[in-house]
Amino acid sequence: MAKPRPLGRRSFVAALTASTAAAPALLAQQAPPAGAPNPNTSVQQRQGTLPEVPPFDGPIEFTRKPVAAKVEAFPMTQVRLLAGPYKDAEEWNRGYMQRLPEERLVRNFLLNAGLPSSAESLGGWEQDTADRAGELRGHFTGHFLSASAQLWASAGDKGAKAKGDAMVADLARAQQKLGAGGYLSAFPTEWFDRLDARKPVWAPFYTIHKIMAGMFDMYQLAGNQQALTVLEGMSNWADTWSASKSEEHMQDILNTEYGGMNEVLYNLAAATGEDRWARVGDRFTKKKFFNPLASRRDELRGLHVNTHIPQVIGGARRYELSGDYRFHDVADYFWWEVTGARTYVTGGTSNGEGWLAQPRQLAAELKRSTATAECCCAYNMMKLTRHLYSWTADPRYFDHYERTMLNHRIGTIYPKTGATQYYLSLTPGAWKTFNTEDQSFWCCTGTGVEEYSKLQDSIYWRDGQGIYVNQFIPSELDWAEKGFQLRQETRFPEQQGTTLTVTAANASPLALRLRVPSWLRTAPTVKLNGKVLDASASPGSYLTLSRPWKAGDKIEMQLPMQLHIEAMPDDPKTQAILYGPVVLAGDLGNEGLTPEMIVGPNAPRLQRLPIQVPTFQAASADPSSWIKPGDRALTFHTTGQAKDVTLAPLNSIFDRRYSVYWQVS
Ligand SMILES: [Zn+2]
Repeated sequence: MAKPRPLGRRSFVAALTASTAAAPALLAQQAPPAGAPNPNTSVQQRQGTLPEVPPFDGPIEFTRKPVAAKVEAFPMTQVRLLAGPYKDAEEWNRGYMQRLPEERLVRNFLLNAGLPSSAESLGGWEQDTADRAGELRGHFTGHFLSASAQLWASAGDKGAKAKGDAMVADLARAQQKLGAGGYLSAFPTEWFDRLDARKPVWAPFYTIHKIMAGMFDMYQLAGNQQALTVLEGMSNWADTWSASKSEEHMQDILNTEYGGMNEVLYNLAAATGEDRWARVGDRFTKKKFFNPLASRRDELRGLHVNTHIPQVIGGARRYELSGDYRFHDVADYFWWEVTGARTYVTGGTSNGEGWLAQPRQLAAELKRSTATAECCCAYNMMKLTRHLYSWTADPRYFDHYERTMLNHRIGTIYPKTGATQYYLSLTPGAWKTFNTEDQSFWCCTGTGVEEYSKLQDSIYWRDGQGIYVNQFIPSELDWAEKGFQLRQETRFPEQQGTTLTVTAANASPLALRLRVPSWLRTAPTVKLNGKVLDASASPGSYLTLSRPWKAGDKIEMQLPMQLHIEAMPDDPKTQAILYGPVVLAGDLGNEGLTPEMIVGPNAPRLQRLPIQVPTFQAASADPSSWIKPGDRALTFHTTGQAKDVTLAPLNSIFDRRYSVYWQVS
């Protein structure tokens, strides 16, 4: 792996390499302790039929045999956000993207190709320096292309499309000038020679993947044909480069982070119908990572988290293209294991960028650093969730998606400036830290601009019969092909319910499936045109309303919330407090916090500002016996404690110290 560096990202790698005393125990792939069974359905279906040889040993052959999705998300062009916290986040992000000049985003690509640019280099990970600190330069430009394409699709933002088109044109010029078989980057090919020779270099394919994915999105979502040509050129280069390596050597190369190279090549194969790209994608299968997953074993301890989630997303895509069940099992087992045994209450996973403990040892892992729950990981787990949901339409996937969205995504973008977080620290006494305007460009700044330009991409899904309403977000859906339009109005979660109004319909019957979240205690009350319906559905399922609709039909669903406690699996006294799906955080004040401690650092430096975090005595097992409602929606306060605290949604807390986990006796 890359050498340690004095930077935030891969500080995990640095820690592993630097502390030789601790490293062996951490790196060892030990058998996990027995735990709760993984609810992976294919385990039951296929038990006793597991192959005895590792599933990915031997060559991988690609045969195209697409698996039909059970459900698909509506294209973003058919969904619009209405006023509310999601629209606010979209606008803050759009503002940030507008402030970054196109010339600065392409500068290092042009200079690398020997073309002129008088623009100033961006800083942070985009810096144009000879030392290791600038070795990921260009990665953010790729993310920015994806985000621009998404802003066009999601909000019809012509400026975002024009800027993305201009960037594609400039990058195409750089690619042509380089004349290196399709190679396109802000750094020289010599870095790939270092990768090949297994000499220190940060993660060149990680960066190349971001640019390729940006080109794919500009083609797919914004209709830019030139982006497809650039991407095919880059894929051609990746083919030539990887084809020259032996299988064994390529597997060694895959020990260096490579993002989702497999995914973007599968996406290209799907979009063009050319199997060649899928075969190149197959070369980016890290077999020693996939083998235990396909055999449903958790050997994740010691791995760098966001190196590996994108590889699994690629695996999911490979299954969709080929029906190869090994890839299905990798993605399926991984998702259930990570969300069930390695995820904090917010939906986030990782500490110091790694999985540092055995499964279900989260209280122990939480103590390892303040850099918990990297935002990239939340972003990528949600992306993986979309794939798995499309295979099954199982609403439980959206319990995870909703929890992550509410607690880890909304609330990690700074109001108005649009700056985003690297880690969402869950260490008691933490505060949120954010990127600078143009001197950070972390991995999470990149997934940040992507996230907030596509917030509506999973609210509504569809199949042949109708619509699945999976999230309670104010928005409008226009199913033009069916002449059907729907408007969702809600202030959820402040409001404990949602209202859906049909604004256009024809006479054909259509099923509306409303997700009934697992966090509800009982089946919800649903009204149609003011009358309570006889029908309802259990938490963790869908309520299906199938009928011919007419404009003006109104559905109201109540979503009553309760206080509840979630304890750490390895320490019942370490507890978090939730209200429905909302994670509550205790306000610990802002004494000693300065702007420099908030904007710039990738994680809070708690050792510089220690704090005494209160502990609680629960009056009874029912949290409502000692936690009482406050004077605003979603706020509460503890009672009867040595030091009582005010509780509010974690997603509403900025510039203050907080705790999500408490010691409760
Ligand atoms: Zn990140």
